[in-house]
Amino acid sequence: MPYVPRPTTVVSCAHCGTHFTSRNLRRKYCSNSCNVLASYARTGRRAERASRTDLEKTVAEMRELVQLMQRANLKANLVNLKTALETSTTDVPKPPQKRTKRS
Ligand SMILES: [Zn+2]
Repeated sequence: MPYVPRPTTVVSCAHCGTHFTSRNLRRKYCSNSCNVLASYARTGRRAERASRTDLEKTVAEMRELVQLMQRANLKANLVNLKTALETSTTDVPKPPQKRTKRS
């Protein structure tokens, strides 16, 4: 018996609805991306774009936090410097005097 290929049939994609031709009767989606997106829609998993905006939000929040921490750290350093200056007025060693040139 000679090989007879299955006839192509026109199917509409179960996700986006575009018509496509396929020899496989079980094929539901026009493309792999439609398959993945339909899976996301089925399982309630968010689309990649949504999760990316969430990630960007988190990154922005972390940047803000880092800036706040840096400012607080600078303030603390300033306070430390002030107290150090106030407490140690006498025991600051004088810089060594330069030697006078021999003539
Ligand atoms: Zn599709």
